[in-house]
Amino acid sequence: MSKYAELINRLIPNLDAYRGTDLVVTTPIDGSEIASLRMNTAAELDQMITQSVTAFQAWRKVPAPIRGEFVRRLGNELREHKEDLSQLVTIECGKIITEGRGEVQEMIDICDFAVGLSRQLYGLTIVSERPNHSMQENWHPLGPVGIISAFNFPVAVWSWNACLAFVCGDSTIWKPSEKTPLTALAVQAIVDRVAKDFPEAPERLSQVVLGAVAIGEQLVDDRRIPLISATGSTRMGAQVGPRVAARFGRSLLELGGNNAIIVTPSADLGVAMPSMLFGAVGTAGQRCTTTRRLIVHRSLIDNVHEQLKKAYAHLGDTKVGDPLDANTLIGPLIDQMSYDGMQRKLNEVRSQAVEVTGGEQVSIGNGGFYVKPALVRLEKQLDEVCEEVFAPICYLIPYDNLDEAMAMHNEVPQGLSSAIMTTDVREAEYFKQNSDCGIANVNIGTSGAEIGGAFGGEKETGGGRESGSDAWKAYMRRQTSTTYYGSERPALAQGVQFDLE
Ligand code: NAD
Repeated sequence: MSKYAELINRLIPNLDAYRGTDLVVTTPIDGSEIASLRMNTAAELDQMITQSVTAFQAWRKVPAPIRGEFVRRLGNELREHKEDLSQLVTIECGKIITEGRGEVQEMIDICDFAVGLSRQLYGLTIVSERPNHSMQENWHPLGPVGIISAFNFPVAVWSWNACLAFVCGDSTIWKPSEKTPLTALAVQAIVDRVAKDFPEAPERLSQVVLGAVAIGEQLVDDRRIPLISATGSTRMGAQVGPRVAARFGRSLLELGGNNAIIVTPSADLGVAMPSMLFGAVGTAGQRCTTTRRLIVHRSLIDNVHEQLKKAYAHLGDTKVGDPLDANTLIGPLIDQMSYDGMQRKLNEVRSQAVEVTGGEQVSIGNGGFYVKPALVRLEKQLDEVCEEVFAPICYLIPYDNLDEAMAMHNEVPQGLSSAIMTTDVREAEYFKQNSDCGIANVNIGTSGAEIGGAFGGEKETGGGRESGSDAWKAYMRRQTSTTYYGSERPALAQGVQFDLE
């Protein structure tokens, strides 16, 4: 029996209902099996979708502030189970425990945001060009939302989608990553507990479907699901986007990044270095917002390189290990495939690099895949850099003038997060105007976004926006409504005449 069994059973009291043999769950901490589950069948998913449609029909009629009350209680329940759920996040996806806690905190934060939102689903009134006409823009619940999530944010991504969907009047079906199904079942158990004491919440308002690509595709192809929100690789998005479009569905895509920080001569390195380090090596390089490129002015690059090498050596020698250990800053990679991908990329660029630091496997005496983070100094940006490798490889690249740095920055196909380190307001504003990313930061790194802003990116990152700001609009249906309240024959728009006599 797994040493984590007690925690898992505590979080998922009905685990027996999911047991089976075709979905073996392992922990990246040591590669050991922590549960053996059963994937859902196509027939079961079909039935879930039918139930989700029924749940939506009831939920859409519940007033939005009452839907918000449901989400408020969900936030409270998450507070209660924060430590257990954080531990399971760490055990299942390998992020260090403080980041596991941060991820669950993010769920709580989006609950609070959504509660406020439940009283602010504002439409518009619009002036009409015709006498005695009024125009409104109204927002209506959309329908069942399909949520597909990635392994590296196994629970927060669901909450960004589901909490907004719930207050907007939608039901949800969640297909978590096949690498992290337990955290999804734990969250579902929490939702179930809240729903049990909330009579307005229909049965099957929130559901989890377990499966791999085939189940994901079935969800994506089903016309009863008006919105598919899919988070994962650009490879996945390139498959999902066209399939949803082919049935005239709506997709919200949150895909891979290739994020850079530009460091200008005016940068305050005391401010910049910690952000660059956390961005590059935090979460063992397994964030969509991980800093993959440091584009540094030539006058600073030797200094920055020396400081980074020192920090990388310290991290690699003393801070790689069990993510449940409070001393650890770099946990394991998710699996061997990820480790192999990292080594393959390092071998590809090695002969063209000025210097490569780190990247070696670290043995901590168990079956997990642990690595020293890798820092690769280049003389110029290579084509090989344009691909996202989901592991801690960071490229250090020199530039001579800001236009050149900006061009290099925007050259990659992804467009998620970006940052500049500068104390010059002109450089900062130039950067915000010219970065082609969905996120452009000044003097903070590329990762660690707050929930209040809309999160997402452009180009191959998919164009979707989730979480804060007005991202809720993706989960509703916009309707323009014109009312004539006069008693004369109504005028036609644009002065069109259509007189019968
Ligand atoms: P992945 O693409 O392998 O899988 C993501 C999810 O998509 C899984 O649930 C998987 O089963 C499903 N899936 C894969 N192919 C599918 C298909 N054809 N139809 C339907 N579903 C399909 O990604 P991963 O390895 O779990 O996660 C890492 C990737 O996710 C990285 O590229 C990272 O940048 C990205 N990511 C992006 C964001 C963001 O908000 N932009 C957030 C987290 C992760």
